[in-house]
Amino acid sequence: MADIIQLLPDHVANQIAAGEVVQRPASVVKELVENAIDAGSSSIKLVVKDGGKTLIQVIDNGVGMSHTDARLSFERHATSKIRSAEDLFQLNTKGFRGEALASIAAIAHVEMNTRQETEELGTQIRIEGGKLVSQEVTTTPEGTSISVKNLFFNIPARRNFLKSNQVELRHIIDEFQRVALAHPGVHFEMYHNGNELFALPVSNLRPRIVHIFGTKTNEKLVPVEENTEVVKISGFIGKPQFAKKSRGEQFFFVNNRFIKSPYLHHAILSAFEGLIKEQTYPSYFLYLEVDPTTIDINIHPTKTEIKFDDEHTLYAILRSAVKHSLGQFNIAPVLDFERDSNLDTPYDFKDKGANFPTIEVDSNFNPFEEKEGKVKTQTKPVYKKENTAGWESLYVGLETGDTKEEQFTQLEVESEHLSGNLFPEEEEKGQTTASTYQMHRKYIVTSIKSGMVIIDQYRAHQRILYEQFLRNITVKEALSQQLLFPLVLNYSKTETVLIKELKESLQHTGFAFSKIEDESIEITGIPMNVSESEVSIILDQLLADFQEEIPDSSFSQADLLAKTLSKALAVKTGELLQKESQEALVNDLFACKEPTLSPLNKPTYITITGEELDKKFL
Ligand code: ADP
Ligand code: MG
Repeated sequence: MADIIQLLPDHVANQIAAGEVVQRPASVVKELVENAIDAGSSSIKLVVKDGGKTLIQVIDNGVGMSHTDARLSFERHATSKIRSAEDLFQLNTKGFRGEALASIAAIAHVEMNTRQETEELGTQIRIEGGKLVSQEVTTTPEGTSISVKNLFFNIPARRNFLKSNQVELRHIIDEFQRVALAHPGVHFEMYHNGNELFALPVSNLRPRIVHIFGTKTNEKLVPVEENTEVVKISGFIGKPQFAKKSRGEQFFFVNNRFIKSPYLHHAILSAFEGLIKEQTYPSYFLYLEVDPTTIDINIHPTKTEIKFDDEHTLYAILRSAVKHSLGQFNIAPVLDFERDSNLDTPYDFKDKGANFPTIEVDSNFNPFEEKEGKVKTQTKPVYKKENTAGWESLYVGLETGDTKEEQFTQLEVESEHLSGNLFPEEEEKGQTTASTYQMHRKYIVTSIKSGMVIIDQYRAHQRILYEQFLRNITVKEALSQQLLFPLVLNYSKTETVLIKELKESLQHTGFAFSKIEDESIEITGIPMNVSESEVSIILDQLLADFQEEIPDSSFSQADLLAKTLSKALAVKTGELLQKESQEALVNDLFACKEPTLSPLNKPTYITITGEELDKKFL
């Protein structure tokens, strides 16, 4: 039989290798920016268009390349950073594989302009799909500028696989932030479609964090410092009370390289144990310095995983360092010598008192009502949360009963008019409505024909609100209440980018925005059933839920938005509900299209039949 093995042509091999290095535009950003760092740059500018699909350009003021090196840099395994395998164990650079430029050039249109300090003229090289198009002598500033256009132009399958521009942009921002946090001594700028997203002057770590994550971050940070023979730890952790629902702001750097380590992450979480609520995550920006011979960063192609020689010791040291900082911080506020008055929270924001959320929910919505062409006549039932101020008191309901009563006088509830009414009068002989009972401020217990129903109040209310919001968003007919004074909220740039992306869907729920700027948004209208004090709670929840990934299809985006809103607004476990509210909740739940499940597919209620009860009494 004839020989069948062939060597792949270089450009095919490069394309395949490219798949490993370049998964998405963010991978290109990572490689180019890291090269700029390795080149000793003190200033790096990143320019991106259309989530990196159209253009990614990195301009640095580093050492540049000679004519020969410029051409060589696009060859596979061409690197100036290691000479032998031994060098791998003493790495001080980001790159070392010599694959990035070759891979990127194999799947995009690349132009590089580069000049060394000592040279008068520089080099311009253009490569498309791995093929050299031109190499010329050119005038160009000292340093290197590489632009990557039309990524994956020759691999349509990969190009089609890319997510929306906003999603790709988020990944790029993630990479950008990681490098920027690892190198506060380097000036960074980032632009997207002509808009400046970040301008980060050379600074210490704390202001760098604050410049990236917004002014309000400053007050949240607690320093961590620990020096041992094995490791030197420095950086900041977020105060426990600012723990977020999202996992967004967790950063480990080992020898200035961003890494992911579930194991060390756990060390931090365990130090925070008992200080933060469940399902929330502390932010941290921690820098570990270890002897490079004791780690292996070579085990993962994208190089965010790392292997330590002695992980257990590291774990213990890290945990105790974080605990120590938390302890110190609890005894006395840590003095902040690096304080920069420019970073202080704006006055109006700081002095905003904490408002207790009150919920007034329009549970009037009944998905079947309009189809029947009925006119809505009943007054709207309202789920009113009890004041939580006297929470510890067993008799809180009785003590505050009077004032609550007043609040309720205008809010007549005619739940029996709802189509989902579970309590037909004939079934409950002698009673006009079946009585409900709230157990442990968590369950609503009531009887039905066949026995009893136990409803989880939080999940049930989520279901009701979820259907309502989903309908509003898809039908686009939510009512908005105009605010007398616009509500100004501060966010980080990354967060406002996200809010911009969700703006349209949010408008369909009743939100109205007059401004969405770099670090602040101005809200002029909010959904009918939302109170002003709840807006920031909702948006925080929203940002947490969408941080990971913005769903691509508008349907799943609407779905996630409705889930988030319902999660944020539903009466929570632990909230005392008035009789009227309990009844309205029960009725509204059973008027839902899918009453049995919460939006997250958990059961909303269970039933116990009369027979089951009888059996228990045998
Ligand atoms: P690696 O970074 O793993 O060495 P790359 O493919 O990323 O491989 O880069 C190849 C080589 O090109 C680098 O080793 C470096 O010598 C040179 N190079 C790449 N980018 C720059 C830059 N921005 N400035 C100076 N030299 C660069
Ligand atoms: Mg590199």
